[in-house]
Amino acid sequence: MKKDLLSLLPEEREAEIVALGAPKYRSAQVGRWLSRGVRSFDEMSDLPKNLRDKLKDSFRIYKPKVLSKQVSALDGTIKYLWELSDGNAVETVVMSYQYGNTVCISSQVGCRQGCAFCASTIGGLVRCLEPSEMLDEVMFSEIDSGKKLSHIVLMGIGEPLDNFDNVVRFLRLVNDPTGMNIGMRHITLSTCGLTERFDELAALDLQLTLTVSLHAPDDETRSKIMPANHGRGVDEVVSACKRYYQKTGRRISFEYAMIDGVNDTAEHARLLVRRARECGAHVNLIPLNHVEERRFRPSTQGHMKAFMKILDEGGVNYTVRRTLGSDVDASCGQLRRKMEKQSAKK
Ligand code: SAH
Repeated sequence: MKKDLLSLLPEEREAEIVALGAPKYRSAQVGRWLSRGVRSFDEMSDLPKNLRDKLKDSFRIYKPKVLSKQVSALDGTIKYLWELSDGNAVETVVMSYQYGNTVCISSQVGCRQGCAFCASTIGGLVRCLEPSEMLDEVMFSEIDSGKKLSHIVLMGIGEPLDNFDNVVRFLRLVNDPTGMNIGMRHITLSTCGLTERFDELAALDLQLTLTVSLHAPDDETRSKIMPANHGRGVDEVVSACKRYYQKTGRRISFEYAMIDGVNDTAEHARLLVRRARECGAHVNLIPLNHVEERRFRPSTQGHMKAFMKILDEGGVNYTVRRTLGSDVDASCGQLRRKMEKQSAKK
């Protein structure tokens, strides 16, 4: 089996290329081609032919294809659907903010967490993405859009902590100064709360931002909408957040999608205040995106207002997430899902 060249860290790539009998500097040359988006050994024109042949025999590289690209007429948000080497597809979204351009990437093909309001999990998990595939989501979104990407959020399809080793390797690759050089402080990892991984992540001391999809402050509500709550529970989630904050000094955020009649009462707001204060979390309120296959609706303006008032009074810091790209199905999983449904019809 050929090795995945782009998933290797610079020092590993160097060791592999030296083992092929080439001098060290050849690895830096290869690295420069890779970071320019070249994905064919024949195009690496400053390498001798015999080295290119050896590389071809030992490694695989692949260029993801654009299956679809939609640009929002409302706010310029771009949504890509990429075809991977095995024919699977994942989504990537590029959003522009005042502080720069953010790319939202997928970490798995599908998802097995089963959140009741989310489109990504409907067909279950197909497979995890390789580090190279996540890196290419960032790199080819930048190359194709012509927008310099300064921030990354792992909030696309998939659960990043369910693909822990590949995600950590991707983070190191995208952070590499000879590669895309995106700072860890500009990277946000979002998890449905696989708390058994929090200490491991904290121990790596990566300086990234961890956000936890809480969506409900009590077990009764949370277990109804998030199967990942079973066997963990809100108490455990909050104490894992607290430990993470204490160990890394990095404040956690709670994602909270406001769902009509499910998690948006005054009682939920009061409990959320308590939970956020317990671990010093910031709260991101998200108006629920309607997903065709799901019965849930976004909370009414009135309920959102009343909810925010309670957070204000409780002294909790919160922001309301702006909805971007609503005309291009830019909420996770919806585009891939649409393509699957179309191909099922064929
Ligand atoms: N698996 C990770 C990251 C992917 S989802 C996680 O659960 O955090 C990114 C965010 O979008 C999560 O907070 C998720 O709960 C939220 N989300 C999923 N479906 C949504 C919907 N229909 N409307 C609003 N937010 C949604």
